[in-house]
Amino acid sequence: MAKEELECSFCGRKKPETNLLIAGLDAHICDRCIEQAHGIVLEESKETQNGDLSKDLMLKKPKEINAFLDQYIIGQEYTKKVMAVAVYNHYKRLVQPGNDEDIDIQKSNIIMVGQTGTGKTLMAKTIARMLNVPLAIVDATVLTEAGYVGEDVESILTRLLQAADYDLEKAQRGIVFIDEIDKIARKSDNPSITRDVSGEGVQQALLKLLEGTTVNVPPKGGRKHPDQKFIEVNTEDILFIAGGAFDGIERVISKRLNMQAVGFSASKNEDVYEKDNLLKYIIPKDLKDFGLIPEIIGRLPVLTYMNPLDKEALRAILTEPKNAIIKQYQKLFEMDEVEFEITGEALDYIVGKAMEYQLGARGLRSLCEAILTDAMFELPSSEETELKVTRDYAERKLAKSTIKKLKAAS
Ligand code: ADP
Repeated sequence: MAKEELECSFCGRKKPETNLLIAGLDAHICDRCIEQAHGIVLEESKETQNGDLSKDLMLKKPKEINAFLDQYIIGQEYTKKVMAVAVYNHYKRLVQPGNDEDIDIQKSNIIMVGQTGTGKTLMAKTIARMLNVPLAIVDATVLTEAGYVGEDVESILTRLLQAADYDLEKAQRGIVFIDEIDKIARKSDNPSITRDVSGEGVQQALLKLLEGTTVNVPPKGGRKHPDQKFIEVNTEDILFIAGGAFDGIERVISKRLNMQAVGFSASKNEDVYEKDNLLKYIIPKDLKDFGLIPEIIGRLPVLTYMNPLDKEALRAILTEPKNAIIKQYQKLFEMDEVEFEITGEALDYIVGKAMEYQLGARGLRSLCEAILTDAMFELPSSEETELKVTRDYAERKLAKSTIKKLKAAS
């Protein structure tokens, strides 16, 4: 009897018809069937991953989101609460079962108003970290209307794609933080005289993106690579968070509040407002009066504010967050087997300097660097196993360093 010809147990192809036939215990499989099976495995795992993502997101209730933010961000309780709810609702919207066309849950894009260095970027970063989604941080000041010098608004999505390692699915569920949104406010109430390419024009261009649309995005960005293939990105499920200092908006708020006070009973309402933190009372109309167009405001429905950081907050920022600056230095010294300690007085001194030079939270790090650079240079090659930073030590090191430069750089 002729020897039985081997064949693939899945598709029945004879051995000569295949490129490769692999033997199992009782069966054989050909190269084509392996490839097909591989495809199925990939597809399946993608589906379960998406399933997990939804489950993962749903597991985080607003209070849990808030608790996570608490680990990294000092104060800003109101914004944390508002963010927790907005983020929760945003991701609830993404996982709503089926295609229930009756109720269309709108996006909860967010706008944060507050001085620089109060934690706006940190807030966006922490949310992205918690959700494990890609984050693109863009500066609104570099954006211009298409065709003008500067970056088109589409470049925002290029950044997001890059942050997602070009995984389109991931990018489409990511977060975009647009910093300095106040800088694209309309310059005057008369929009028509000169073309306002970096102000209202950009606001117009942003509208569609914020609301949800499909955009052809050059994956490498810009006009430098004219022959790149576009990637189609849908922005419907991307969460946009905008932030800005809105310098001078207090005047707008105060004017409105005074007018209200006059409208009602002036004497009764007087002094009820916290005058040194008027941002608390911000409403969407104030943004309009500042120069954002109503359509943009409508697409950033969640409005919140950041409190200025006082001494206590700065002190806490140094030591309390999970990745607090002092904890980072402790870790760095630990790697050289040096025990690092800093006294309360020294911390107060650093905070005092940050306040004095109006460096805010951003300055804390530069101050610490200035104080600790000598030690970080010397100790790794010495026998020392301890570093205790007292107020005196900090004062001496800072006097030596170029603190004035720090001020200039801020
Ligand atoms: P903004 O975006 O408002 O200008 P950032 O978020 O960039 O400010 O803050 C600058 C740095 O200051 C952050 O990296 C962080 O270390 C620190 N910081 C600012 N505000 C806070 C805060 N509320 N809690 C903890 N750290 C903060």
